[in-house]
Amino acid sequence: MSIDLAQIRQSFEKLKVIGQNEAGGITRISFSPEFRQAQVLISSFMETAGMEVEIDSIGNLIGTYAGRDQSLLAVVSGSHLDTVLNGGAFDGALGIIAAVECVRSWHEQNWRPLRTVQVIAFIEEEGTRFGTVCFGSRAMLGEFSEKNPESFIDASGNSLLGFLKEMGLGEKPFSKDSFFQNGFCFIELHVEQGGILEQAGMAVGVVSAIVGISRLVLNIRGNANHAGTTSMELRQDALVAAASLISYIYNQALAAKGNYVATVGKLDVWPNAENVVPGEVRLTIEIRSEDVVRLEGVRKEIIGKLREIQKDYKVNVDIITENQVPPIPMDDKVIHSICNIGKQLKITCKKMPSWAGHDAMIFAQHIPTGMIFVPSIGGISHSPAEESDWDVIAKAAQLLEGTLKELASNSEDL
Ligand SMILES: [Zn+2]
Repeated sequence: MSIDLAQIRQSFEKLKVIGQNEAGGITRISFSPEFRQAQVLISSFMETAGMEVEIDSIGNLIGTYAGRDQSLLAVVSGSHLDTVLNGGAFDGALGIIAAVECVRSWHEQNWRPLRTVQVIAFIEEEGTRFGTVCFGSRAMLGEFSEKNPESFIDASGNSLLGFLKEMGLGEKPFSKDSFFQNGFCFIELHVEQGGILEQAGMAVGVVSAIVGISRLVLNIRGNANHAGTTSMELRQDALVAAASLISYIYNQALAAKGNYVATVGKLDVWPNAENVVPGEVRLTIEIRSEDVVRLEGVRKEIIGKLREIQKDYKVNVDIITENQVPPIPMDDKVIHSICNIGKQLKITCKKMPSWAGHDAMIFAQHIPTGMIFVPSIGGISHSPAEESDWDVIAKAAQLLEGTLKELASNSEDL
């Protein structure tokens, strides 16, 4: 094995304590002193691994291990360095540390890839500071070119430009000349954050696509009336209608055996009083699937069900808003590379969708992209109880190393 698990663990333990409270929760919000301290630490790891280190115009930390042919586009890896409030030690951090270890092992063996390999520690993936997920990767790939940087202000009134100034960065984070344009492909190692791989006997995950999301906001209007004097037959109870719809959505999704998930996560009930038949309910529906046809099919089924609900409960249902984010497939050739290396290394891999968003989802819209998932014990994430098995981490890191090596040795187009 060329990567050194002890090195990964050592780096991981050093990073873990930055922003950690006594109960084990980690808070490293982008641009905070803890975040900056973590950047300094990762920079030192990158330098030890033989990389040149820079911070781009938005605050992403980039380590560059120069290839033999610098006219070729670079193979890029990495993950995010920020955390949610009171998060875990593995989310994001593991993908950076594993990628740096791949390069460190090459540096130790004096191996120089044909293509340059870059490792990025992204800023603000969680969106905790400015409310936009994958902020760092979106910015570096030019998705904010139309935005005014002055419009980004956090909940305490701190501005993006103020933070950039503190870091000694310029005032034009979204200008065209700061876009990241030299990527050949992007591979992100990340914890699964769900329980599918654990169920699959701790296989390493190879992501097929980041799921798409279909969202609906509905308003169900019945009739608010006296909870004592209104007979059961005469009621137009909006909450009972909502409950029936929620059960339907849940049971349909349960029967789909993992092909999609659906959630009613938010309810507003009027007048929300103990002695009044609920007159109106507003609710959100969120459907996620990697299959765009299924996503649309489920949405249509739910809308079809609304007619029945209206009739059965004598209510009116209006769709207030609707929006869809399509699934983002990972690149077939990158998936093939990862699976092939997995076979060579005799690592059990399982293809699966990612049910959460990642920086890889942004990269996939620009360059060929793939993701490697490490199983999450108990499927827990965004929590101090986040945990993964070190033997499986070693396998996943070795898989990343083999894949990066193969892609960085490729002089052809993907
Ligand atoms: Zn993450």
